Amino acid sequence: MKRLLALTAAAFLTLPLTPATADPAGTPGAAGAGDPYFPGQGNGGYDALHYDLTLDYDPASGRLSGRADLAARATQALSRFNLDLVDTLTVRSVTVDGRPASYTQSGSELVVTPPRTLRDRRGFSVVIRYDGNPAHVIDPDGSMDGWIKTDDGVFNANEPQGAMTWYPGNHHMTDKATHRFTVTVPGSVVAVANGDLVRKASKGGRTTYVWNSREPMAGYLATVSIGTFDLADSRIGRYRVTTAVDPKAAGDATGFAERHPPVLDYFSGLFGRYPYSSTGGIVDHAPEVGYALETQTRPIYPRVPSESLLAHELVHQWFGNSVTPTLWRDIWLNEGFATYGEWLWSERRGAQSVQDAFDEAYARPAEDEFWQTPTADPGGPENLFHAPVYDRGAMTLHVLRGAVGDDAFFAILRAWVREHRYGNADTAAFVALSQRVSGKDLAGLFDAWLFKPGKPSL
Ligand SMILES: [Zn+2]
Repeated sequence: MKRLLALTAAAFLTLPLTPATADPAGTPGAAGAGDPYFPGQGNGGYDALHYDLTLDYDPASGRLSGRADLAARATQALSRFNLDLVDTLTVRSVTVDGRPASYTQSGSELVVTPPRTLRDRRGFSVVIRYDGNPAHVIDPDGSMDGWIKTDDGVFNANEPQGAMTWYPGNHHMTDKATHRFTVTVPGSVVAVANGDLVRKASKGGRTTYVWNSREPMAGYLATVSIGTFDLADSRIGRYRVTTAVDPKAAGDATGFAERHPPVLDYFSGLFGRYPYSSTGGIVDHAPEVGYALETQTRPIYPRVPSESLLAHELVHQWFGNSVTPTLWRDIWLNEGFATYGEWLWSERRGAQSVQDAFDEAYARPAEDEFWQTPTADPGGPENLFHAPVYDRGAMTLHVLRGAVGDDAFFAILRAWVREHRYGNADTAAFVALSQRVSGKDLAGLFDAWLFKPGKPSL
């Protein structure tokens, strides 16, 4: 958001199998990645490399049948490991390196015990077969997240914790992996996911769509959205633009695909080249969903987006998707930057200037509760998408720009994108980079704007 309104499958097969002489002294992997906002999210003891998901969904019955092929690497000698999957879905079988494994499901944890201890630093493969009727979850801030049913299918947006509602995985954002989606649906609807559409085939009244997301992706940025969509896949300028538009979507969708290249060209000039092999968007008719999400390569919208919302979600492809925070409390690294992108795009197209946007946001009175939230930690998962994360985050960047000058400011942003491409980085890394690139002591600026409550003076 949320904004109110390379490994291939073939490579994975060649990973070494765990030998028969496995280390008997393995220990269980942690049940969480250690994020204070969502302690159970993610898992320890292994690194997910690639998900090959084969899904069959029937919107009429709401039934999902899935197979998840996971390629992973152990980061400790592993006697047992967890995946995140809600237990409203029933796991039918699990194999590890081709051998049946025992497992239990409890809440959002799928606990797998392989027949033999997995050796540290060795690759292994997991196949999980599961089915059930997936449903969304309600986040600490009250919004719907995950497999959100619509009148004709699914609006699938997963920030911060929805991925566990439809596929098993290591779903903390620090464990990125490539994804391939093979989704079969009735011929009357379309299944659209992240990355490149590589195949579409119909048989017996059902259609299978294969999407390949070749760059690593955090689970919260994955989507498999299903419904009545006009699907268009074309090359426009330097971009492969793939759009899916629900004919019932609110707003005017004329030229939706063509709106992307000018925005991406502009931001590529500021931040460095667009990080993905394709782009586009999913425009659904989902009046019950109050937000859009920057799902990787292809943001999802509950209606036709405005220019500023389109710019916001596309800026996330650099800030949030390619460079992803390390902990949820660093969410301003996503939303502050995307909001600043809105301001930049507004000025670029001759609407409100960046300075006017800053002035408007800064005009909030000092006693306004808005100023009580430090930018770099909104305080808890219920505040993940509060206004200061967006507006105070964008203001922080504008004040930084004023302090170091345009050349250094955009050099900082380009270095951030280049040095952490497809990875994770935290607020401390951004502060250190800003000081390194600018050669200035920015401790006071960041202290006031990122870490302390209260309205900073200018
Ligand atoms: Zn956002």
